[in-house]
Amino acid sequence: MNPKWVLATQNKGKILEFQRLFQEHGVDIVSFELGQEVAETGQTFQENALLKAQAFAHASGHIALADDSGLEVEALGGQPGVFSARWAGPDQNYVEVFKILEERLADVNKPRATFVCALCLYADGHAPQYFEGRLEGHLQFPPTGIQGFGYDPIFVPNGYDVTLAQMSPEDKNQISHRSQALCQLIDHLSR
Ligand code: IMP
Repeated sequence: MNPKWVLATQNKGKILEFQRLFQEHGVDIVSFELGQEVAETGQTFQENALLKAQAFAHASGHIALADDSGLEVEALGGQPGVFSARWAGPDQNYVEVFKILEERLADVNKPRATFVCALCLYADGHAPQYFEGRLEGHLQFPPTGIQGFGYDPIFVPNGYDVTLAQMSPEDKNQISHRSQALCQLIDHLSR
């Protein structure tokens, strides 16, 4: 029988994306209703991914896979980092966030930034396993493009002259921090 994993997210889009990817690797990945939010109190993406994976593994009794991601801006010492979603507030309003970033980075030419995604695979009684993907680039103002979400309209990946929000979802998926972390996990499963 295939191992059953739970995905430590309530995001339907993520669940479908992960399910499609794992089907071909013999892993049956399902969503699980935790019934409460996991407090993301970690200092790093890995710590937050572990907190989410542990909560879902304890509650479900299955292996759990969690992800945590965000944007690190070099000239801001890595901010917003693990606070990327919180900077945008409960309404996820990025217009204000873009204004703040533009002001704070006014003196920096092509501010370097990195999208990071940490995945944590956790089973009770076993050491957690981590996989990480990074997408390097620079920030560009004003925000441009309507695809994607979050910080995509201000992020230009290295080797491109358009923002992630100007790229098709398929093209973004080829290079994204999330897909790179997933590729590592799938590599690990195939070994
Ligand atoms: P999470 O992975 O859902 O926890 O995302 C954390 C936050 O990081 C999001 O709410 C966005 O603000 C930001 N973020 C993570 N990945 C991306 C991305 O691919 N594009 C734009 N913003 C992202």
